[in-house]
Amino acid sequence: SDTFDGLVAIVTGGASGIGAAIASMLRDRGADVAVLDLDPSTAPEGTLPVTADVTSDASVRAAIDTVTSTWGRVDIVVNNAGIGAQGTVEDNSDEDWHRVYDVNVLGVVRTTRAALPYLRLSPSAAIVNVSSIAATAGLQQRALYSATKGAVQSLTVAMAADHVREGIRVNCVNPGTVATPWVDRLLDSATDPAAERAALAARQPHGRLVTAEEVAGAVAYLAGRGSGSTTGTSLAVDGGMSGL
Ligand code: NAD
Repeated sequence: SDTFDGLVAIVTGGASGIGAAIASMLRDRGADVAVLDLDPSTAPEGTLPVTADVTSDASVRAAIDTVTSTWGRVDIVVNNAGIGAQGTVEDNSDEDWHRVYDVNVLGVVRTTRAALPYLRLSPSAAIVNVSSIAATAGLQQRALYSATKGAVQSLTVAMAADHVREGIRVNCVNPGTVATPWVDRLLDSATDPAAERAALAARQPHGRLVTAEEVAGAVAYLAGRGSGSTTGTSLAVDGGMSGL
């Protein structure tokens, strides 16, 4: 697998779940990793915790300044911070749409915009966005969430086109249902969490939830030199949900 020795990676939302697994894996493979999160106190050991809110341009710019004044460069950006939303188009208000879009879509835009001047200077620049199976799967009760993740996938292709000549690759991963604190929170609100967890696992083609480490492995591949000719793509990490 790729080594990230000498490279600096930023992982938004890296203090929990998928982002924490990504931050840990990039760190283990040699990167200096900064975790940008609303609450970075649970960022993986050996990473740089930076308080940042991706809904604020000033906050993101200040966080990138902290990273570059610490390490002098940015080579890899993983846009992972995201929040969920349930419901049909009748259930969510305009305010809900603006709030979730602000994190899931504009969060990607702001972080990328602030990092681009540094990525242009990197010989191995890569952006990896965390979309979701929801981008294309037609999940029920997920209209708003799905639209944000569809936008992340479209943005991935558009940004890949805009920056390919600058040597900056842009790809995304589309996880299925991943065992993270987020999914735990959803399951805990069910009447019988254990039964609901088993039913959820049974609905996955490979009979279990995806692990955060499996998503991290896909992100590390797309962030590394081994995928040097891959840009503008989406990699499904969903146990076969979208492909079978
Ligand atoms: P999580 O809730 O465990 O972690 C999300 C992290 O993002 C938290 O640390 C949170 O503090 C941070 N965050 C939230 N809003 C932020 C903001 N405005 N600024 C900075 N940080 C912020 O969630 P997770 O399950 O690890 O999800 C991570 C990403 O993976 C999300 O984009 C989510 O949409 C995507 N995803 C998750 C699943 C799943 O099943 N868990 C499936 C597909 C895609």
